[in-house]
Amino acid sequence: MVKVLLTGGSGFIAAHIVDILLEHGFDTVVTVRSEEKGKRILEAHPNTPKDKLSYVIVKDVAQEGAFNEAVKSDPPFDYVLHTASPFHFNVQDPVKDFLDPAIKGTTGILKAIKSYAPSVKRVVITSSFAAILPGEEATDHSKVYRASKTFAEKAAWDFVAKEKPNFDIATINPPLVLGPVVHYLNSLEAINTSNQRVRNIIQGQMKEQIAPSGTYLWVDVRDVALAHVRAIEVEKAGGQRFFVTAGYFSNKDIVENIRQSHPKLESNLPPSDSPSDLPENIYKIDNTRSQEVLGLKYRPLKETISDTVESLLTVGV
Ligand code: NDP
Repeated sequence: MVKVLLTGGSGFIAAHIVDILLEHGFDTVVTVRSEEKGKRILEAHPNTPKDKLSYVIVKDVAQEGAFNEAVKSDPPFDYVLHTASPFHFNVQDPVKDFLDPAIKGTTGILKAIKSYAPSVKRVVITSSFAAILPGEEATDHSKVYRASKTFAEKAAWDFVAKEKPNFDIATINPPLVLGPVVHYLNSLEAINTSNQRVRNIIQGQMKEQIAPSGTYLWVDVRDVALAHVRAIEVEKAGGQRFFVTAGYFSNKDIVENIRQSHPKLESNLPPSDSPSDLPENIYKIDNTRSQEVLGLKYRPLKETISDTVESLLTVGV
């Protein structure tokens, strides 16, 4: 059996990765920060045998040696997917809250694998469009997050170049990730960062005025999750960086898709003649590599928004 360690198992994207790993037959171990989150994940998969899905606790990825025990396993791991990294815009201490967990978390897991998990063939790292984006495109509140993702990815490529470990790496670089949240990890107050705009729209927070989109590229969470799994299944994905995006969007497009898919929410939505802020002369994008190497076929915004709203209504938004 092929065995995978997935870090940050309680995350929005990771919850979908778990499902795809299990569907594709991988034995899956997730890292979580607490017993409670680990138990919730297992309870949400009641028909999955214990040897197919389990968890280990890694409380803080920024701690020295945080992954040293987690990467040891019997039978040993074949692959590691590293998603754990802070993603929010509530910056108190940029170094402690963002840079350390992103950068030390990434180098820490690579060091631990090199020292204690020689069977690992590939590590797939969740990077970001934020690590591709030219500096001047970033909005202020996202600068610290963007730096954390840029330096973490750079540290990973530098590690491989310098240390020449037994494994190779691949990075998945998504822009804004939208899509359904899993019911067992979410609540009204704790909706993951990238879906918050959809929650805000359906709660009527943009009824008077649509908030600035801030970013204009998006991708469905299920396509991002599949990209991670394909990146371990496809031999030639090693050593590559995958920009995974379905294309452009604006908050106005989200509003119009909600108007169509969920007419009962009309009274919370801004008027249909509200303007879109999608710039006319926007940068060009190229996601060919993700389609050709990983075989991704991107979901359209219509499907993603409809499914996202359904899931948010289920968790009580
Ligand atoms: P979530 O916030 O839902 O997931 C983040 C995960 O990382 C959670 O499991 C969280 O644990 C864990 N984590 C954060 N800090 C630490 C820490 N110090 N120690 C241990 N675990 C930690 O966000 P997403 O699922 O959206 O993000 C997953 C990855 O995808 C991140 O690397 C993010 O940068 C990247 N990404 C996300 C995009 C998006 O639009 N969603 C876009 C581009 C990249 P806990 O739940 O316990 O806090």
